[in-house]
Amino acid sequence: MSNTKYIFVTGGVTSSLGKGIVAASLAKLLQAQNFKVTIQKFDPYINVDPGTLNPYEHGECYVTDDGAETDLDLGHYERFLNVSTSQANNVTTGRVYQSVIEKERRGEFLGKTVQVIPHVTNEIKKRMCLLAETGDYDIVITEIGGTVGDIESLPYIESVRQMIWDLGRENTVVIHLTLIPYLAAAGELKTKPTQHSVKTLMESGISADIIVCRTEYELTEDLREKLALFCNVKREAIIQSIDVETIYDVPLKMLEEGLDKVVLGKLHLEPKQPLNLESWNEFLNKFKNPKYNLKIGLVGKYVELQDSYKSILESLIHAGAVNETQIDVVSIHSEHIDKNNVASKLEFLDGLIVAPGFGERGIEGKIIAISYARINNLPFFGICLGMQMAVIEYARNKAGFTKANSTEMDPNCSVPVIDLMESQKSITNKGGTMRLGSWDCDLVSGSKVEDAYGVKSISERHRHRYEFNNDFLDKVFDENFKVTGTNPETGLVEIIENQNHPWFVGVQFHPEYKSTVSKPHPLFRAFVKASLAKKNLT
Ligand code: GLN
Repeated sequence: MSNTKYIFVTGGVTSSLGKGIVAASLAKLLQAQNFKVTIQKFDPYINVDPGTLNPYEHGECYVTDDGAETDLDLGHYERFLNVSTSQANNVTTGRVYQSVIEKERRGEFLGKTVQVIPHVTNEIKKRMCLLAETGDYDIVITEIGGTVGDIESLPYIESVRQMIWDLGRENTVVIHLTLIPYLAAAGELKTKPTQHSVKTLMESGISADIIVCRTEYELTEDLREKLALFCNVKREAIIQSIDVETIYDVPLKMLEEGLDKVVLGKLHLEPKQPLNLESWNEFLNKFKNPKYNLKIGLVGKYVELQDSYKSILESLIHAGAVNETQIDVVSIHSEHIDKNNVASKLEFLDGLIVAPGFGERGIEGKIIAISYARINNLPFFGICLGMQMAVIEYARNKAGFTKANSTEMDPNCSVPVIDLMESQKSITNKGGTMRLGSWDCDLVSGSKVEDAYGVKSISERHRHRYEFNNDFLDKVFDENFKVTGTNPETGLVEIIENQNHPWFVGVQFHPEYKSTVSKPHPLFRAFVKASLAKKNLT
């Protein structure tokens, strides 16, 4: 077995405490001391991946370079660490059982009764070790989704117990993230739920080494001591995680609390270099002291749930910071836009993003919004479905194809400017069958996108089934409305631009998956810059 050290992060009391952010923040602090770190997430649900989940269920589906459809926490990991993740970084119960059952069918357990322990736990443990086995990492952080005590988490918790046994306590740390609720009527923070969840973890044979306490109010010294005593950890292992203005403050808060020190001490590791968070602090400084302010509209149909567009919102934060701009995102429900109200909904905006999406609901509203942006010189950025709708808008309103549509919305449409790829037509399974992951794209010289990227050839992540239908290349595009990015192997249209406009760009891929704190995405940067220019701010 390799020398890699393991950190396990479990959650107690309630979900949505931000295990992903705490894990990413710790990873950031370790990375800033020159450790090679990665994070993996184990999700206890039975879907093989979150690709088939409605965004209302589980927020955005994040996509990696190798085409894995994953939990949105992987987005946080990449944004914090600027290190790519892969299929191995996200495992679900569905995927674990799928492998075990396939092995059973192949006869690999011949003669044996296949059981949760050891067969399912062995499969989980094998996957927990995969990234460490690459030899690329000093430390692997493993986040266990869900809450301790849930029925579906049990095989994971049992696997963590066995991993600690296999690897030795000096090579492992268990961090338990819990909630310290504040009872307004009593005017008190309460520790009992945390005591109970630590006890539940102990019943499964795991004693937490560190308790990270989510809280709305400062923990007093007394309360910290009480928690340490009842939860069987050292006083310095009680880490407060107080509500902050931005998730990007969490690494600094964890540093103040000494989380990295306690972890390194427990793992018998010395920092490989003095902690260096210079560029992180530079980003935070710009983010918190903006010179300008912009209102950017985000048109989508899942706007009620902010997590649905997580990566887009974070990309705007990164691009805003480099442009020293505070971005107020105005969420606009695409189903609420019509010809009569579009001006009143969009006229005060400095830029417009039309979001990715699936299915017919809300698409006419998107097309009307795009029309408004095109005619009124409002900087426009269309992402995936947003790009497809920009093509349909132009085809209908400028190229004269009033019946233009996507066969996703109208399978019998007579002018299918957006259509299924030939290779997609025979596919019936929904899971994992879209055009996924990284694909190359060549940019046209002199285009806005070439200017933004500063190179001629790029690679971006995709997640879609439909494409621009190249039968309409000469019919829809003209001297103003141009294809400025194409896949070099297939000739598929990846980027469209309206050059008779300050900034009107549609991309078939998802640039938001590749924006990080240290490398804000070039297209988001350029879009924010164009929006500032529209407001005469640059
Ligand atoms: N529904 C469209 C397609 O499948 C766009 C997908 C997306 O926006 N991610 O092609």
